[in-house]
Amino acid sequence: MLDIEKIRADFPILNQQINGKPLVYLDNAATSQKPQVVIDSIVNYYTTINANIHRGVHTLSQLATDAFEQSRIKLQQHFNAKKSYEIIFTAGTTHSINIVATGFTSLLQKGDELIVSAMEHHSNIVPWQMLCERTGAVLKVIPMNQEGELMMDEYDKLLSNKTKLVFVNHVSNALGTINPIKEIIDKAHQFGAAVLIDGAQSCPHIKPDVQTLDVDFYVASAHKLCGPTGVGILYGKEAWLNKLPPYQGGGEMIKEVTFEKTTYADLPHKFEAGTPNIAGVIAFGTAIDYMNGIGFNNIAEYENELLQYATKKLLQIEGLKIYGTSNHKTSVISFNINEIHPYDIGTIIDKLGVEVRTGHHCAQPIMGFYKIPGTVRASFSFYNTFEEVDVLYNALIKAKTMLS
Ligand SMILES: *Cc1c(COP(=O)(O)O)cnc(C)c1O
Repeated sequence: MLDIEKIRADFPILNQQINGKPLVYLDNAATSQKPQVVIDSIVNYYTTINANIHRGVHTLSQLATDAFEQSRIKLQQHFNAKKSYEIIFTAGTTHSINIVATGFTSLLQKGDELIVSAMEHHSNIVPWQMLCERTGAVLKVIPMNQEGELMMDEYDKLLSNKTKLVFVNHVSNALGTINPIKEIIDKAHQFGAAVLIDGAQSCPHIKPDVQTLDVDFYVASAHKLCGPTGVGILYGKEAWLNKLPPYQGGGEMIKEVTFEKTTYADLPHKFEAGTPNIAGVIAFGTAIDYMNGIGFNNIAEYENELLQYATKKLLQIEGLKIYGTSNHKTSVISFNINEIHPYDIGTIIDKLGVEVRTGHHCAQPIMGFYKIPGTVRASFSFYNTFEEVDVLYNALIKAKTMLS
């Protein structure tokens, strides 16, 4: 079992008051908090080895390059990628998806079909709509049911030889649903389609194995798994990354430049133009080490207990309705109480120290499906406690009384 008190001591931000009340941070699906080792990693980099990477012969540049490339190896091992250069460092999930969506422009023709799911974050919808506008490809949508699960028999009907790409989130940020991505990937491959999995919301809870999944692209952000903001990864199978053109031109991504012709660098540098977030990448590696030190199985088990406890507790509140009731979910509870606007609930419980997200969670199609303006979303991490669930419950009772 996890020693939660000891874990909480690793996160300096948790030990403070908000509006005169102890902070209860339940907005982990938006971004996680950072342990001291990750903060130290950023400070140490700027204090001791700051230099530009991959360019200098001098000692500092080599130390910075080594630390940066060490992070790539850590990420390779974490995701079980075959080659370290299949891990591309990006600015985050949104950036990673845009690299792939832009790269496919020259690989698609009018009438080709792309498949997305009904429960995506806007960052896994909009770049593909832009791709469709550029190419004349058509976007098809896997529908979902009332429980917030994908209707897999409808997916079967959408697949055909016209399907070129399928992109689905591993876990929905608005509902918590864990999607059957292995089945989604295998079925797409039967039609020769490539698959991109948006792992922004799964990676804080699940350690994905990209080789076992046989996934073509898997993307994630560091900031949702205890790392810094503005850093993420694009995992791509070597063959796909070689096929895609570079996303940005600039320094670092070239082999040779003349005014007549430029040749591109090999992987991973082809996709890493310009000076990257060096400190962020190094701290990302530290965050991965930290989370593996706690253990993803332990994290998943504990968070599931929190989820079960919180679900039972919140359902005691009359008029509270949960959106996303799949048996396969991570520790996210999206809900409304009667007709009360989520924003009003969020504002009142913030006064009581409880930080939750309210609104459409960058997933407006889901809100459209349930015909609601938004939800209140409490999302739990391994450093949250059962007592904090009780604080949330009491705060909601108070908010409901005030707003009814
Ligand atoms: C957070 C999130 C994103 C976007 O991540 P950024 O770090 O903002 O780029 C995409 N998809 C899902 C499912 C998310 O939860």
